[in-house]
Amino acid sequence: MYKPLRKTGLNMSKPSPFNQFVQAFRATIEQFPDKRTGQNKHYSLVDAALGAFAVFFTQSPSFLAYQRDMTARKGKSNAHTLFGLEEIPSDNQIRALLDPVSPERVFPLFEQGLATLEPTEQLAPFRSWQNRLLVVLDGTQYFSSQKISCPNCSTKHHPNGTTTYSHSMLTPVIVAPGRAQVLPLPPEFIVPQDGHDKQDCENAAAKRWLRQHAKYCRAKGIMILGDDLYSNQPLCEILIEEKLPFILVCKPDSHKTLYERLESLEVGNELPQLTLRTHTPHGVQLYTYRYAPHLPLRATEDTLYVNWCELTITTEQGSPLYHNAFVTGETITQKSVADMVTAGRTRWKVENENNNTLKTKGYHLEHNFGHGQQHLASLLATFNILAFLWHTLLGLLDRKYRLLRQTLVSRKTFFDDVRALTRYICFESWGHLLDFMLHGLEVAFPPNSS
Ligand SMILES: [Zn+2]
Repeated sequence: MYKPLRKTGLNMSKPSPFNQFVQAFRATIEQFPDKRTGQNKHYSLVDAALGAFAVFFTQSPSFLAYQRDMTARKGKSNAHTLFGLEEIPSDNQIRALLDPVSPERVFPLFEQGLATLEPTEQLAPFRSWQNRLLVVLDGTQYFSSQKISCPNCSTKHHPNGTTTYSHSMLTPVIVAPGRAQVLPLPPEFIVPQDGHDKQDCENAAAKRWLRQHAKYCRAKGIMILGDDLYSNQPLCEILIEEKLPFILVCKPDSHKTLYERLESLEVGNELPQLTLRTHTPHGVQLYTYRYAPHLPLRATEDTLYVNWCELTITTEQGSPLYHNAFVTGETITQKSVADMVTAGRTRWKVENENNNTLKTKGYHLEHNFGHGQQHLASLLATFNILAFLWHTLLGLLDRKYRLLRQTLVSRKTFFDDVRALTRYICFESWGHLLDFMLHGLEVAFPPNSS
């Protein structure tokens, strides 16, 4: 499936998931158009991409500097043995080589990465209501500055005459109720669009993402989740047109027509209701569901009609604990309402598990080799999300990796150790690094396991 490696330091005797990922990465970068001529120059582009990616994967901003020092001392380095770099470009070379590369060229690696789960038993537990994979759409800012900018920056002019430049993106991820892991899909960048005076916004990015990835989503049985920002007619029309099922948060302030219609149903006592007693560590809680079919999404004649439901959680004594409401195109019944709401509520995970992890747990989402004038900022952000996906996939596919992460528990400790070890020792392969760590921690690993 993947192009064979040229001569590199990678240990090919036992292809591990990590080595397969690196091969796929390399094969993808080799397809990048390079207007320069000469093979050596082409390899530099591969080395630049692998080098930049390695910084995010190891969560070590100094990784390349350390590996340059190591090469000077030992004649080889982990950049070569782990990631297959032939030479380590300077940060300036990386900036120059990667700036013209559109991040879309890296997007197939997300699907290829997720496809590695399909022959295993690791994807099934992510399936939720209706046996679907739940994908949350949500936006996040990954760059902000008053000094550095590029033509792709969004701009905000302040009354005092200063300007803030920023980059944001839509970061769709697969989530599942009760699971800590999330699986990122390719992002969509929120950039000023040609022919539009108004600055791009999250909703427009979501529409582009849905159009671009609808076929993949249909093939994988994906259901779309989103907050109140997404439960508007133009976006729902695209979801329906693309035959993508959805569960979207629906708040009263932004859906006056729908809630007026709901009030009249309440008056007529026509709202089906279901209350379930749930035993939790905090005592008994009452889950009360109400739902209604065929409500207008907006006040125009051409309004879409959607199905609505809400969940109110209270203590047994009636003290409120939680409330939220959703709209969907799916039929809601007494039997399905609880599962549907459980799926809809999984939306919050995108903030906790994905965006916070990328921003605060060492992925250095804002680390940059420079901002660039074309694609550099967005390409590096894409590498960063891809690194996050790889670590999640390795946790699912590679028993040694999983055992190590379970032993070290803290994400920070794991990356601190990887950072320190790769500074001082040149490992033959990623597998040897894992073996070294497991051995040092005296963790027994069952024989004949991979
Ligand atoms: Zn910019």
